[in-house]
Amino acid sequence: MKLKHILISAFVFVAAVPQFIGLHFLNHRMADQHALDVEANLMALSQIAKERLLASIERIEDNTALIASRTQMRISLKEWTRTGKDLHRMTILRILEDAQDGLTNLKSVNLFDPAGQLTISTFPSVEVRHLEPKTDSTIKITLQFQDGETIVASETALHLGRDHVGYLQLTFFADFINDLSQDRTGLGETGEWILGLRNENGDAVFAFPLKYDPDAAFSHTIAKTRQDVPITKALMGEEVVLRHATDYAGNLVFASTRYIPELDWGLVAKINESEVNQYTFQNLYLILISGIALLGLATAIGIGLSIYIARPVERLKTQTSKIAEGDFSNPLVPRGWQEVKELTLHFSAMAGALKNMNKTLNDTVQQRTKELAEANQKLREISIRDPLTNLYNRRYFDIRFSEEFQRAIRYKHTLSIVIADLDFFKQINDTYGHPAGDVVLKEVGRLLVDRMRNSDIVARIGGEEFCLIIPENHPADIDKILDRIRGEIAEMDFETEDGSFTITCSFGVAHLSGDSKNETQFLQNADKALYNAKKNGRNQVFVHTPASV
Ligand code: GH3
Ligand code: MG
Ligand code: MG
Repeated sequence: MKLKHILISAFVFVAAVPQFIGLHFLNHRMADQHALDVEANLMALSQIAKERLLASIERIEDNTALIASRTQMRISLKEWTRTGKDLHRMTILRILEDAQDGLTNLKSVNLFDPAGQLTISTFPSVEVRHLEPKTDSTIKITLQFQDGETIVASETALHLGRDHVGYLQLTFFADFINDLSQDRTGLGETGEWILGLRNENGDAVFAFPLKYDPDAAFSHTIAKTRQDVPITKALMGEEVVLRHATDYAGNLVFASTRYIPELDWGLVAKINESEVNQYTFQNLYLILISGIALLGLATAIGIGLSIYIARPVERLKTQTSKIAEGDFSNPLVPRGWQEVKELTLHFSAMAGALKNMNKTLNDTVQQRTKELAEANQKLREISIRDPLTNLYNRRYFDIRFSEEFQRAIRYKHTLSIVIADLDFFKQINDTYGHPAGDVVLKEVGRLLVDRMRNSDIVARIGGEEFCLIIPENHPADIDKILDRIRGEIAEMDFETEDGSFTITCSFGVAHLSGDSKNETQFLQNADKALYNAKKNGRNQVFVHTPASV
């Protein structure tokens, strides 16, 4: 893994990931807090609504008691029931209209005779025409649903002294209750109020239309056994905050329940759980976006940092690898952060030393190579030359003879071979000493080299035997040259402490021709010619012919 990749990953992990996790954690904390806030809000709202309900009911009770306390009205009701005179009815209506004037929300005032039969009403189309006889003077409040509206009715028995003269019934437009069904302020998009009462079976009945069940008012019920439903809980007198409760429509809800014991009503403020959670999802979305932005920022900073940190190191690496390959052409330039600059300077110093060392080494190697080549050349010379005469030795002669023979055959050139042997040389050694013999060998060798061409090869192939390889020359010319050399040798004077002496030499010559089948044969022909020269008296040049064998 490259340094810059390590740096980017490290930065992303160190900078972005913990922040991301932190934000996520924070979101959960905020979601929990939000749920608690929702619960507190529902609790406060339901408590306020309960108090408003109680206050409204109290007002209705007060108004009912006030009208019921009109003595003239009770007297006239008694008389009207007894005599049926219109005078009494008119008196009652006047009193009722007077009472009605000061009251808002009042829909009707109805009077019933002691048997519970409707006798007088300020509202012509009043529906309840008969009341259950109930003689105590407590005020009974009930809820009714009329023409799509919830109506509150209050009833009380009327007495005159000890006589029970009838009943008073007031009906009110229940604005505060209808408000609950419509004004859902503080309950979000999905929340609503529920007001419930109990039917004769004890099951919950809804007091007004519901958001998810518009026909619910006084028609749909929730069985009292469904204790998980908030309205049932409220009607059981439990004032609690519920989370994850199932409402009448089957939605999971947050709910706060209240119970109004005086009327045996249950009140519920609720909001769907999905809406509460939506807050968390919205935040999650924000966190995701900011997380991605953070990640992008961290990556960008990581890349920036890695360029700042890794690039000088990479440049240094490239420069040093060039030096490692022996390329000193580009000088190291100290760039980047302080440590890399210092490292570059140290590398520069090292590279300089290395360069010098390299140059010295190169010079030394060159010098040594030259010396070695010279030594090799010398060695090669030594290996192919005879140390005494400095003529080519037998080994070199064999190689060259073979080469020249092949070439002559291939290109059909002439080739001549000559073996020269000093006559009675043993006697020279014996008479004048071995060193004198050596001088003879040297001098004769030098003469032979002098007289032959550069392209000819002069070798010492035995003690006092010389051999000449002469390519591309006329046989007749060779014979003449050899005879001249023979003469020159015979005229050489050798001076020693024991006196002077001369020497002669015999030459066996073979020119390449049809009977020289191979190298050996060719050389043997020359050897035979030498033998003949010796046999015929020495100091002569004998040329091999097929007839001379
Ligand atoms: P011939 O005429 O038949 O050739 O007689 P020769 O005496 O020359 O023949 P032989 O082969 O009997 O003698 C050769 C002698 O050459 C023997 C040896 O002492 C001598 N000799 C060989 N190598 C050297 C050398 O390097 N230095 C000296 N001084 N003498 C050598
Ligand atoms: Mg010999
Ligand atoms: Mg000899």
